[in-house]
Amino acid sequence: MIQTMTIKEAMTASSLPRLEVRMLLEAVLNQPRTWLIAHDDEILTEQQAQMFYIMVARRTAGVPMAYLLGTREFMGLTFCVSPHVLIPRPDTETLVNKAIEVIRENDKLNDSTESQVAVPIQVLDMGTGSGAIAISIAKACPNVQIDATDFSAEALGIARLNAECLGVKVNWFLGDWYHALANQASSVHKAKGMTEDKLIDQAEHVVNGLHLEVNKRYDLIVSNPPYIQCDDEHLAQGDLRFEPPQALTDGADGLTALKKIIEQAPIWLKPGGQVWVEHGYNQAVQVQGMLEKAGFTGIQSLYDLGEKPRVSGGYLSVSL
Ligand code: GLN
Repeated sequence: MIQTMTIKEAMTASSLPRLEVRMLLEAVLNQPRTWLIAHDDEILTEQQAQMFYIMVARRTAGVPMAYLLGTREFMGLTFCVSPHVLIPRPDTETLVNKAIEVIRENDKLNDSTESQVAVPIQVLDMGTGSGAIAISIAKACPNVQIDATDFSAEALGIARLNAECLGVKVNWFLGDWYHALANQASSVHKAKGMTEDKLIDQAEHVVNGLHLEVNKRYDLIVSNPPYIQCDDEHLAQGDLRFEPPQALTDGADGLTALKKIIEQAPIWLKPGGQVWVEHGYNQAVQVQGMLEKAGFTGIQSLYDLGEKPRVSGGYLSVSL
């Protein structure tokens, strides 16, 4: 038999911070904070008390608040999250704000041309997870066509759900970085007798200087890839212990995914197109080096809320 209690008693029944307990009670009772304050003598039903105890126990064991509640705020929007996706971080808003700025500049250029119809800005988000980046961009910029990839079918399921709930359209592609797009292109090419393997081979050949006919090119590529070094002690601390490891680390020096994304970005970008990626606080120099090697100019690093260089990018110079 579960011992029952009032809201006021529940607030002090554990060693968790008050803010967290209040958030758990809001979820269990399905009531806003103001209601909880005005009704703190109300007794929890046996079922509510049981649910509350389970959530407190799981939180005490370290389960992230976002996974317990099933949601996290990002860019002022509520995203569904599950243990299949990385929990969106405030630091990533730096990347999203930069993307929005780039898109608005492109839009202005569009306006100044003679064209009567607005040409949509083509955006690609790689390793989208919950879809937080792609969906926030789509929400803020009506004139974008946005494609997003992820290696995990479960993650794309969550991303799809978020896009539906937040009322935006994003095209989702399942696969490993640019292979996701090659997989998709292959359905067109298969009809012409080309195998997927051959297509992916071709995509890789481009890196060695050979030409691949890519169906679509982007104005902007963004990504928050797994960039934590595999032996970083933070992986064994806090929320990170419960997040999908493949969304956090490459199992090596943390630079593998960043390198792949940057190296191949020129193949998928229009002339003048930009790439912006999130990276570790101590990776700006390496990432700037990768951008330079891949042929980008106007390379810059932007700072996160903790004043660490967190996002780097640049543009492809327009060849005349
Ligand atoms: N920013 C996250 C962290 O340091 C890591 C996210 C990532 O690897 N993309 O907790």
